[in-house]
Amino acid sequence: MSNNITWHDHKISRGERQRLNGHNGCVIWFTGLSASGKSTIANIVEQKLFERGVRSYLLDGDNVRFGLNAGPETLEERHGVEFAKRFGLGFSAEDREENIRRIGAVAKLFCEAGVIALTAFISPYRRDRDAVRATLDDGDFMEIFIDTPIEICEQRDPKGLYKKVRAGEIKGFTGIDDPYEAPLKPELRLEGGTKDAATLAEEVVSHLEKAGVIPVLTGCQETREGMVEV
Ligand code: ADP
Repeated sequence: MSNNITWHDHKISRGERQRLNGHNGCVIWFTGLSASGKSTIANIVEQKLFERGVRSYLLDGDNVRFGLNAGPETLEERHGVEFAKRFGLGFSAEDREENIRRIGAVAKLFCEAGVIALTAFISPYRRDRDAVRATLDDGDFMEIFIDTPIEICEQRDPKGLYKKVRAGEIKGFTGIDDPYEAPLKPELRLEGGTKDAATLAEEVVSHLEKAGVIPVLTGCQETREGMVEV
């Protein structure tokens, strides 16, 4: 190993953690254009998992850019200009690559803890997503492509970003003047332009059941709303 660092195996294995949790860990990687529905669908999936007693955590778009992947402007005040320049992340192709690499590393930790990590990032470059896939064991990485046509994303525009792009206020925006590379073989493709978010979230949950990540529900179950038939 370089730099004299050595990997230490944990006393508690991933299998033991998963047995304790009653389900497996994995990484559900949502990818798609801005406003394609990543955040909305991922949140509904999380709610559904929570109601079933499945442990998950959503790593979401802008949130990680407040902390782990803060931009130079955030870091500068506390750590100085040089530090901010070196570690702060913007939106260039290289910065997006590092953004995704760090998110991938955190998601992998959740996965190893037997937790379902959901990530909701545009993650426009195939190479960056494939690089995360390569760090995980087979079956641990589920790439979910939210295939929503750009015209629909632009109509929705909940954050007014497309409007700003059209007004020339944002440059290098994915799908407009920066590329979006759709997955070639995603584990799941969701029709984000024609089906509602709840239906699509259900498709994700049944995929997790089919893949054996979470147990299939049978009979009645206690949820926050009381006993429900499943
Ligand atoms: P993203 O995280 O991909 O940027 P969001 O989840 O913020 O996108 O969703 C964009 C908007 O589109 C939201 O206002 C949401 O309510 C709406 N939306 C998301 N998915 C659907 C869907 N399948 N059908 C209709 N509207 C949706």
